[in-house]
Amino acid sequence: MDNAQLQNIRSQFPILDRTVYNKPLVYLDNTATSQTPKRVVDAIDASYFHTKANVHRGVFSISQEATDLMEQTRCRVRDYINASSEQEVIFTRGTTEAINLVAASWGGTFLHDGDEIILTVMEHHANIVPWQLLRNRVKFTIKVVPINEKGELDIEAYRNMFTERTRLVSFTHVSNVLGTVNPVKEMTAYAHRQGAVVMVDGAQAVPHMKVDVRDLDVDFYAFSSHKMYGPTGVGILYGKKDLLEAMPPYQGGGEMISHVSFNGTTFAELPFKFEAGTPDFVDIAAFPRALDFINEIGMDNIAAHEQELLDYTTARMISEIPGVRIFGTAPHKSAVISFLLGDAHHYDTGMLLDKLGVAVRTGHHCAQPLMQALGVEGTVRASFAVYNTREEADKFIEALKKVNSILNRI
Ligand code: PMP
Repeated sequence: MDNAQLQNIRSQFPILDRTVYNKPLVYLDNTATSQTPKRVVDAIDASYFHTKANVHRGVFSISQEATDLMEQTRCRVRDYINASSEQEVIFTRGTTEAINLVAASWGGTFLHDGDEIILTVMEHHANIVPWQLLRNRVKFTIKVVPINEKGELDIEAYRNMFTERTRLVSFTHVSNVLGTVNPVKEMTAYAHRQGAVVMVDGAQAVPHMKVDVRDLDVDFYAFSSHKMYGPTGVGILYGKKDLLEAMPPYQGGGEMISHVSFNGTTFAELPFKFEAGTPDFVDIAAFPRALDFINEIGMDNIAAHEQELLDYTTARMISEIPGVRIFGTAPHKSAVISFLLGDAHHYDTGMLLDKLGVAVRTGHHCAQPLMQALGVEGTVRASFAVYNTREEADKFIEALKKVNSILNRI
């Protein structure tokens, strides 16, 4: 990506011009949430100012316009992930709600006492706790796939975990801590041969790579708009239609019914069966502008640019920051760098970096079991998006040197 293109991209994100402690902001917490281009915020404005009316209900014009905008987004998402039908695209609040939906509805119906499910040690809490909550009611066993020293899943161990009681495998496409890109297609094919259903947490994949749910052949796939330049409050659950049709509603209320009486209620068709209440239709309507942004640049260009920043920054950290420890060194890795400066506390490192204008994440990153496996309490995490530059990587390295000299006297 040339400099002119990068500057053009950056100019679409007003927040990138701000300062922190009188230093230009270097935003490296894209794994937690990405920034939002102006066109997405303009679309939100336009909805509030011109088309705000509740969806799927009104006969009047602006209600129909609002409904059309929401349903156009569903079709855009269908095409974006290559789902077979828009009925397979459920709007949720985010990845977390999407996984909770599957755990409560699919898990609550199809998991029974004595069954087994497989998760991995690198899961975000969003793909651990919903299953544990369900386990309070259904006595199934959770098996956990370990990782090797590079932060890759132990696929041999994974294969050996299956028994005739394995009903489900649920794992992340890309680790939010290690950056590891997991072999979803192969893992899914193996699980299917064993008769298990596959749920994938795609929160960290969809912003950085092309995802084709039919090619992967996953049964469920979840992701969040706010991590891919889109608005907050919008998540997607993709599910294969036959599975979704066999599942009971997750929440009850308006929008999801066909007919209600006190003698009983019948439910709406897919996807509305899973969308109780007023959806976040304003943000949903704005989400396609984020997809436009990605498509204009091209996902291959985004991935190449981020990969270049990852390689450049990692190499400089290893050669120029004495005592740095990087967690996650898989060859197939997304642009996330988790690290510690010697024995310095992650929180101190993050706080000092902030004083130098660099925004990074510190802590357990909602992956405490992974922290335990790594033998640390937390890490510092720098993560890149398409608008980050090599100059920002340089500022990050210079800031790291200063922080290292303060905390480790190096
Ligand atoms: N899974 C992964 C891998 C994540 O990184 C995150 C966000 N940190 C989530 C799930 C949860 O996403 P959300 O908060 O948007 O529901």
